[in-house]
Amino acid sequence: MEAITENTRRLLRELPADVLLVVAGKGHAVEELVAATEGCAQVIGENYVQEAERAITALGQRVRWHFIGHLQKNKVKRAIELFDMIETVDSAELAAEIDRRCAQAGKIMPVLIEINSAREPKKSGVMPEEAVELARVISTLPHVRLMGLMTMGPASGEPAACSAAFALTRSVFDQIATLKLTNVEMKCLSMGMTDSYKQAMEAGANIVRIGRGIFGVRP
Ligand SMILES: *Cc1c(COP(=O)(O)O)cnc(C)c1O
Repeated sequence: MEAITENTRRLLRELPADVLLVVAGKGHAVEELVAATEGCAQVIGENYVQEAERAITALGQRVRWHFIGHLQKNKVKRAIELFDMIETVDSAELAAEIDRRCAQAGKIMPVLIEINSAREPKKSGVMPEEAVELARVISTLPHVRLMGLMTMGPASGEPAACSAAFALTRSVFDQIATLKLTNVEMKCLSMGMTDSYKQAMEAGANIVRIGRGIFGVRP
């Protein structure tokens, strides 16, 4: 547990002040997440609503919670109660469901659009050229606030392919920002994981999502 706390501290010291660390918590015990918060982590990212339920019950609001997995429509109702941001909106239908549930709950949910920046067939996320259209749709939804983009990058993790995917996502980000859509504040660019966060920051990321670099490799 001490290693987790120390890894978190070291990363936070290393990251520029304007880059937000999201601790990618999937598969880790509540005690491990607590150890990361003891290293001053402010935000935990969760991939599964059910797994998050346990963690959020235990840790509560001492940290903020980002949803970073693939969100199914039937989990939206619970997700909007649990999370402070949903980073992975990749369809108009999902955005509309978040809007509908937030309207009922009297909330506005900050979201990011997930971009399939490596154009991989089985990955979630919209194709880069579909992002502007989805941003326009979200801009009409009063209970959803588009705050930026998120991407995973290529599964290979190959550095040149990562750089290309991050640069592409950055260009889509700039393109949407230029449109100055109502109800849209392009502030967050969430890219980069343990092996790629430095490249992601070079490409303009201001959110990095780190799992293995904090918890070590999962057994
Ligand atoms: C697991 C995961 C991460 C972190 O990956 P690491 O390689 O463990 O740093 C980041 N983003 C998402 C969406 C993840 O599922």
